[in-house]
This record gives sequence, structure tokens and C-alpha cells, in this order.
Amino acid sequence: MSDRLTALRADIAGARLTGLLVTGMSSIRYLSGFTGSSGFLLIEPNEATLFTDFRYREQAAVELTADVDLHIVTDGTWDALADRLGASPPGRRLGFEGGRMSVAEHQRLVAACDSVIWESTEGLVEARRAVKDAGEIEAIVAAVELADRVLVGFLGEIRPGATEVELAALLEYRLRRAGSGPLPFVPIVAFGERTALPHATPSERSLGEGDLVLLDFGARVDGYCSDMTRVFTMGAAAAWQREVHGAVQAAADAAIAATASGVRCAAVDAAARSSLEQAGLAEEFGHSTGHGLGLDVHEAPRLHRHETGVLEAGNVVTVEPGVYLPGQGGIRIEQVVVVEPDGGRVLTRSSPELIEL
Ligand code: ZN
Ligand code: ZN
Repeated sequence: MSDRLTALRADIAGARLTGLLVTGMSSIRYLSGFTGSSGFLLIEPNEATLFTDFRYREQAAVELTADVDLHIVTDGTWDALADRLGASPPGRRLGFEGGRMSVAEHQRLVAACDSVIWESTEGLVEARRAVKDAGEIEAIVAAVELADRVLVGFLGEIRPGATEVELAALLEYRLRRAGSGPLPFVPIVAFGERTALPHATPSERSLGEGDLVLLDFGARVDGYCSDMTRVFTMGAAAAWQREVHGAVQAAADAAIAATASGVRCAAVDAAARSSLEQAGLAEEFGHSTGHGLGLDVHEAPRLHRHETGVLEAGNVVTVEPGVYLPGQGGIRIEQVVVVEPDGGRVLTRSSPELIEL
């Protein structure tokens, strides 16, 4: 983790800043090891300090890496920061995470630390987090494998009459019992026409013969997330279900084939989109092709048509094209892919084929 601080300090200096106030909790964890839910991390050229409160006194002492100091705040958190920065010469330029602070917090920060010139930064830590080291990839692989394993046993629970809410609760329970940490997101379980809602909230809809079944869920291991989507049919699949599924699978394959270090994120998105265009279904694919995966379930890099960045070895992304036919149903296939120098390697082991239950 001291390598992470060293790399970030170079970025901070490159942005002509003398320090950075990190307020995103996943970034704080990445840089310091602290897994609590409240606090902020001040990074300066020769010091890094975690400010948190009494609730985390023992936990932080255990978790923090040797190169991060602990400051337990007893009164106001911004006042503690002001005390610390008040001793430094006025006119220092420090960065804060513009996307990780509310307007009210920013006002308090500026009022409390008026000797500092505060500059909004975006994506400094996130850009570093996007390139995973071997240990991080290992944790993601473990989270992917855990979800794969749970899916095998879970399929037997999908029976006519079960409701989306029941199955979502059962899936969450099985993931936790199998060793997952807090789930990255509430599992999506959708049946029939409700599969056309890309982010359906589980309802009391019960499963009937011939329905599509869409599951989108992930596990968490050592803080790192997995994310997968699979679609099944209850009984024999209809011709249109097979046809759409085949088109989505071809789009996912095209996007994965396009994935490699040095490739533009937008080019991976374009590969999925043009594959669906050939099937006449591009209009029904209204979201981006995928997102980075790590301590957060949605992080950099994004496989979006307007994304200007380029993939690097060590990125871990989802590839998840989908086709949604309102009132009829939707199909999405989501794979986890690690970017390697010569291509993308799919980590998800569950079959992406349309399985008839
Ligand atoms: Zn997902
Ligand atoms: Zn996803």
C-alpha cells in the first residue's frame, strides 16, 4: 500500500497540488487499509493521516498500514482538520474529491480551513484503482468463483410459483452463507415481461411456465466485488427468446474479442453495439456495455460510447450487453473480464448459454 501512496503522491504533484483530502471510503480503504464507514484521509508529501472518530478507534489502529497516522477526532471533524492545516503556511493548494463531497461539506471545509486554497479534483485515486495488482485480481477471481458456485446450487430453487422477492432473498442468503461479504448490490431477480426492466426491483410477481428468468448478482471477497447476469427460461424456450439470446451472446463475444490493453473503451462498446445492429436490435440496447469492477461495483474504466480513455492491462471490467423489449422481456449476459496485454480473459465460469430449467 505504500506503493499506492507513492504513486498517488506523484499524481498529486503532477496536478500542482501539495496534498489531497480523500473522502471516498473505497479510496480510503485502497490507500490506507481502513474499512470503516466514516472518516477522511489527508495525504501530504511526507505524511498521510486518517481522521476518524471514537467508534473506529480500535479498528483503525489494527487496520491502518504503517505509513498512515491515526487521528481520533473528539470534537468536529472539520475543526480537527483546520487545527492541523492551520499550522501550515497560508496559500497551500490542496485538492479535494469534487465527486465525493456534498456542497454543504465543501462549504464547511472552506470555512474551517480558510488558509488553504482548495481545488476540486476528479478521478485521481480512481485512475490508480482502475489498474489492479495481482492480489486485487485474486480477490475478484474469488468473488467471481463464489458467485459461480452459488448459482449451481441455486438453480434448483427456481420453480413455478416462486416469487422474485423470495428468490432474491434466498440468493442473498446463499451468497452470504457461502462466504460473501456484504453484497455489492441487492440481487436482481426478474421474471417474464419484467426482465425488460434493466434494473428491476424484485416484486411479488410469481414464476410461470415459459417465463424468462433474469438473475443479476454479485459477491464480495476481501472487499472486492463480482457481478454477473444470466438468463434462463422456465421450461422450453420460445423461438424469439432463443433468437434474442443468440444476438446478445454474439454481442458479448464481440465486445470480449475487442478487449485488450491499448484499446479505446468506446471501441469495446462499439463492438457490442455494431453486433446488435446486424441483428436489428441496437435500438433496444440503451445502456453502456460495461463498467470497471473492484472495491466498488461500478468504477473506472467505463465501457461507454463517449468514454475517451484507453484500456490498460490490469483493468477488470464487466461486459454486459442487453436487449429489452418493453412488455415482452429482456435478455442481458454479463461476464467479468480481466484486461491482459494481448486480450481479455473471461473470469466468469457459468455458462452464458440460454438454459431451460
Ligand atoms: Zn450486474
Ligand atoms: Zn454490472
